[in-house]
Amino acid sequence: MQLLASYLSGTWSQGAGARTPLVNPATEEPLAEVANGGHDLAAAFTHARAVGTRELGALTFAQRGALLGALAKAIHGAREELIDLAVRNGGNTRSDAKFDVDGGAMTLSYYAELAAKLGATQLLADGEPVQVGRTARMGGQHVWARRQGVAVHINAFNFPGWGLCEKLACALLAGMPVIAKPATATALVAHRMVELFAPLLPPGTLQALIGPAGSLLDHLAPGDVVAFTGGSSTARMLRTHARIVEHGVRLNIEADSLNAAILGPDVELTSETGALFVADVVRDMTQKTGQKCTAIRRVLVPEGKLAEVFDALRERLGAIAVGDPSREDVRMGPLATAQQKADVLAGIARLASATEAVHGGTGEVTPVGVPAGKGYFVGPVVRTTNDPMACAPLHEHEIFGPVTTVAPYTGDASFAAEFVAKGDGCLVSSAYSDERDWVAQFTGAAAPWVGRLYLGSAKMAAQSPGPGTALPSLLHGGPGRAGGGEELGGERGLHLYMQRVALEGDASVLKSLLGG
Ligand code: NAP
Repeated sequence: MQLLASYLSGTWSQGAGARTPLVNPATEEPLAEVANGGHDLAAAFTHARAVGTRELGALTFAQRGALLGALAKAIHGAREELIDLAVRNGGNTRSDAKFDVDGGAMTLSYYAELAAKLGATQLLADGEPVQVGRTARMGGQHVWARRQGVAVHINAFNFPGWGLCEKLACALLAGMPVIAKPATATALVAHRMVELFAPLLPPGTLQALIGPAGSLLDHLAPGDVVAFTGGSSTARMLRTHARIVEHGVRLNIEADSLNAAILGPDVELTSETGALFVADVVRDMTQKTGQKCTAIRRVLVPEGKLAEVFDALRERLGAIAVGDPSREDVRMGPLATAQQKADVLAGIARLASATEAVHGGTGEVTPVGVPAGKGYFVGPVVRTTNDPMACAPLHEHEIFGPVTTVAPYTGDASFAAEFVAKGDGCLVSSAYSDERDWVAQFTGAAAPWVGRLYLGSAKMAAQSPGPGTALPSLLHGGPGRAGGGEELGGERGLHLYMQRVALEGDASVLKSLLGG
């Protein structure tokens, strides 16, 4: 069986000691293994600090952007192979796999284009120059300068391709060398991408630890950055890690999120806005088998439309074939791991104690095209409660699978915003309405509780990617439970890897530093 190597200090290292298998979650067939340790991580950090930092320091934004463009091209060249790996190792349908793989390439291309606009400089302006002296000669200018350290990227299992690329794009463009650590269970896609990327990048700028983290964080030092995506219990451990605390290492966390969707009181289900709402809920429940940090978990609909929404969801979800994701007729694959399945079933049981079934019971399903008893399958589940504010399990626990709860409300915008806030901080939430006053009232009250607000309406329905798609041009991250982090958002995504500095001096010198 293939033993996946890590790419550290410019060579491929297979590690040593006990091994962890990677499996096909539809069949449980072993696909590859990783070593649980045996890598020289101290040397990897030294390599990044000494070689990677120097190499990126010699490049302008435009030149770093050209590298990102080459990485996007490499993904396009190996697209079918990467999709196949995502289907086999991630339990992805072909469509899910494209979402991950193409999403990674698209994000790299976006930052390559942004870099071309930033041009042949190394500092970014932050706002306009200010006069700080008696005359215009004495000026001030805030700038962003790259941090001198290593960017450590720890990713979740659900987006091995996109997760690697979106973090890598921002760090490399900002000028920081990267050590990436994909989640072990689904590492095949990220491992292959690193194989493709390594020959295209200057030495020391990209390294990858494939397998458990081991002592990775024990090598952190001042100036380093850790960007983490994953569960809140792992995040809690990172926040209190001695090296991170001691050295003030910058830490960005993307964690759990109980994203909400609200159907406005003005919307008929048969309208364009109503159809968008139903399509978005169904897509978020079933795409990636609900294993999207941005997926809709909590839904409010006006009480008079509850039965109609139930019927629409039952009809759409009932038509979705669950099974081996490599089959063309299958629209939803398994969860990624046995642990994920156990966690999702436990979450459904907790929710079931406070809600009633609408569709899918507690997730039992007979998958198609799979040997009996094999695979980590859970079917789509819709639950309901008449008292959405008091239903504690709904607001306290993220079920990372194809599960959502739909509840009634009067249509009051303030109540809807309060419902969003009950999630204690979300990556994204959505409202569907063509009534501008309602949207304004809802937005003002809900905005502090979300990283992104998606406002669904008839005018944008035909162009909408849905709330579950994180875009490179818009912020990804959210307050509170969601981790308090920020990634992407165009140029903002670089700031995590840069230091904001106030420069003070002769105004013409300050201008020249920014290429003026
Ligand atoms: P996880 O168990 O927290 O793992 C996330 C990553 O952390 C993996 O790479 C894991 O490595 C690594 N890790 C585990 N222990 C570590 C340690 N002691 N030191 C350093 N790294 C360590 O989460 P997951 O199960 O992969 O992902 C599911 C969760 O991620 C969900 O709760 C979901 O909400 C969240 N998520 C959030 C976002 C977002 O953007 N906000 C996106 C996707 C997922 P191993 O795999 O080797 O254990």
